[in-house]
Amino acid sequence: MGGVRGARGATLSPWGLLLLPLLLRNAMHGLVSSAPAPASPEVPFGAGQFWHITDLHLDPTYHITINRTQVCASSKGVNASSPGLFGDFMCDSPYKLILSALKFMKDSGQQASFMIWTGDSPPHVPAKELSTKVVIDIIGNMTSTIRSFFPELQVFPALGNHDYWPQDQLPASVSEVYSAAADFWKPWLTDEAVSTLRKGGFYTQIVQPSISGPLLRIISLNTVLYYGPNKVTLNMTDPANQLEWLEEVLEMALQNKEKVYVIAHVPVGYLPYARNTTAIREYYNERLIEIFRRYSSIIAGQFFGHTHRDSIMILLDKKGNPINSLFVAPAVTPVKSLWEVDSNNPGVRLYQYDPLSYSVLDLWQFYLNLTEANMKNASDWKLEYVMTKAYGIEDLKPESLHGMVKQLIAPHSKLFPKYYNNYFVSYDGNKFCEEHCRISQLCAIQYLDLPSYTDCIGNEDTLHYE
Ligand SMILES: [Zn+2]
Ligand SMILES: [Zn+2]
Repeated sequence: MGGVRGARGATLSPWGLLLLPLLLRNAMHGLVSSAPAPASPEVPFGAGQFWHITDLHLDPTYHITINRTQVCASSKGVNASSPGLFGDFMCDSPYKLILSALKFMKDSGQQASFMIWTGDSPPHVPAKELSTKVVIDIIGNMTSTIRSFFPELQVFPALGNHDYWPQDQLPASVSEVYSAAADFWKPWLTDEAVSTLRKGGFYTQIVQPSISGPLLRIISLNTVLYYGPNKVTLNMTDPANQLEWLEEVLEMALQNKEKVYVIAHVPVGYLPYARNTTAIREYYNERLIEIFRRYSSIIAGQFFGHTHRDSIMILLDKKGNPINSLFVAPAVTPVKSLWEVDSNNPGVRLYQYDPLSYSVLDLWQFYLNLTEANMKNASDWKLEYVMTKAYGIEDLKPESLHGMVKQLIAPHSKLFPKYYNNYFVSYDGNKFCEEHCRISQLCAIQYLDLPSYTDCIGNEDTLHYE
């Protein structure tokens, strides 16, 4: 049996054991490999690809034991539901789950030109069980783990609300965590990117010189500065001057005829599972939406994490025309809190893009059926769906997504139950989203600013096109 469990000791004080080489070696040993990857769908001709992983939430305390309250610190004393090798729905990710995800991505043989990684490495545990050092160690561990699987691949990270101690309190100036992240991520980033990362947790960088087309620029925003629970930025109009910086970067990108991917942890817009609740504070949401509308001609895609669920949003201009496609990728962690009925299976995602315009052409969502994986003691990652095929659309450009939403909205739509099942990463195929739930989901998909969202919620007619 592995040294991981043995090395952990009987007491739950494992945070010091984040020694990557040892952990990695031990955990790789005995990692039950699945059969060769099943036949993948065809990559659109000439398309480029990139991976998206998010919300890894490593729980280094995870271990199988008779006492179910002791399986993982992230269950916070509650019984784990059905703990196995690859995790439990009451727990954050065991290291083995994260390794299985990365191993699957590597073994898939898919050629990706880069990866985006939208934050949240530490587990959901009370603040007193973590510290700045532990949080930094975990971010470092996850960075080295990703690099060990993809030593040549360029990775563009964004910071999450859990990538700080105490959680959510990411500051508007230099900090030990920003500095540590900048050091960890140096191999992937330019000096200029490292320098703004150190000061405010955000950066921009050109991906790769393309031979004929425009340049692709990544803008990694620190949207945790705008997150409701962040007390240190309360009442600031522009924390770390990120908004001013963003406008400058976008203006320069426009002048240089570049294309832009915006990546961040906490998404803009409204939460699909709640009513009248923006993911970031309303004030910042309005400002960001205004900026994104103004520069929509060069923003080819926006990519987020944080909700742990799979959802899309379409930014409309003030006349209601679709101008941007936004994607929220589901988490690797399967954790849910006690009061939540549903969770998500672990997921990772591969996007296809047009190398000339950087328009998003398609996405392949992969997932691990956690219950099945634990039963078989094998991590059989599978394709969950191909977006264009699942929803019968041509590509993932704003116009196409808008067409898809018209289908979702149609009364008795057959596509909506599919969308809702994908939302939970096939956690429970029989989930039913009643009218109240459906309206929240549909309004959040299309209306990202206060006036249009309020209008949608208040006037159900908005949801009937024909
Ligand atoms: Zn998270
Ligand atoms: Zn988060």
